[in-house]
Amino acid sequence: MDCHNAGLSVGMVPTMGALHAGHRSLIDRAVAENDRVVVTIFVNPAQFGPNEDFARYPRTMDADLAMLGAAGVHAAFVPSVETMYPPGLVTRLDIAGPLGSRLEGASRPGHFNGVALVVTKLLVAGLPHRAYFGQKDVQQCAVVCRLVRDLDIGVEIVVCPTIRDTDGLAISSRNRYLSPEDRVRATAIPSSLAMAIGRFEAGERDATALATTVRSCLENAGLDVEYVAVVRADDFTEVEKAAPTNQIVLAARIGSTRLIDVVRLGVDTAPVGGGV
Ligand code: AMP
Repeated sequence: MDCHNAGLSVGMVPTMGALHAGHRSLIDRAVAENDRVVVTIFVNPAQFGPNEDFARYPRTMDADLAMLGAAGVHAAFVPSVETMYPPGLVTRLDIAGPLGSRLEGASRPGHFNGVALVVTKLLVAGLPHRAYFGQKDVQQCAVVCRLVRDLDIGVEIVVCPTIRDTDGLAISSRNRYLSPEDRVRATAIPSSLAMAIGRFEAGERDATALATTVRSCLENAGLDVEYVAVVRADDFTEVEKAAPTNQIVLAARIGSTRLIDVVRLGVDTAPVGGGV
């Protein structure tokens, strides 16, 4: 079916599969806002580092396709690695500057270049009117918004709110790696962000103080903190004085499981417990 010639709007939701309620929220929004929706499922080897979890990343294709059918999705695109990386491929994308090299970019060298190449290929292949991404991966959202602008890809990027479990933990495919005890300890992540939001709403504007609040809470729960930072939403530069729409971003490890989270100051409500 040629949707463009038929005058139908197309929404795309890129994923790595192992679909959960976070993905479902993007899919439901895409279905509500477009005549036709395609969901892509591709576990992209280039966005995993050599010591990361590519081999054990959850793959649940049958359940994923059942979920897409129930959600009213019109097409699933599940390319092979050979399709996305044809033999002889020499073209690379490089996300330069702080956006590509700081925080997630520093913790995961090459990650955003891998994301950028695959997202660009998916958008160019499908030429959707809109593509849907989750705020949880906020630096990825900024990278995708920037590359669409830089490469003049005429796709509207829609950033959707983070879906959380009842205890506040952002839903993630990687949560299934957590033991029951570690799953409880992981709630320090939303609690720490709730504390920082509480302090911001009480008037604290010192970015270091806010980040220290988060870091201490995570460390007290036994998490290994990779980074906590208060950043501008567009270019991910760190601020000294926190202001509304700045974001607190973090990455922490519980054993071998690495989780990330984010809240927008002055925008998001506390992810759990209403802050202190
Ligand atoms: P992934 O399969 O992890 O690459 O995620 C595919 C898309 O779903 C990305 O745009 C993610 O940001 C988004 N996503 C993942 N988890 C959540 C969540 N808990 N809430 C909202 N969006 C999410």
